[in-house]
Amino acid sequence: MRVKCVLCNKIQEIDRDSVKGKRLRNHPLVTYMCEECNDRIRDKTEKRREEGTLKLPTFQIKKDEW
Ligand SMILES: [Zn+2]
Repeated sequence: MRVKCVLCNKIQEIDRDSVKGKRLRNHPLVTYMCEECNDRIRDKTEKRREEGTLKLPTFQIKKDEW
């Protein structure tokens, strides 16, 4: 079956009996994301998490100054 990635609009052919295919057939509102976009989003969230943890020490230092 053909699915379109919601992010890059790339059309991909997936096995309709695969887990992804079954899920999309049973839940038409489930959006499909290709592996490329999946990876990109995972990278982004990981980077954001890293940045988040990097900001923590700065907060603590500022708190100590008060
Ligand atoms: Zn994509």
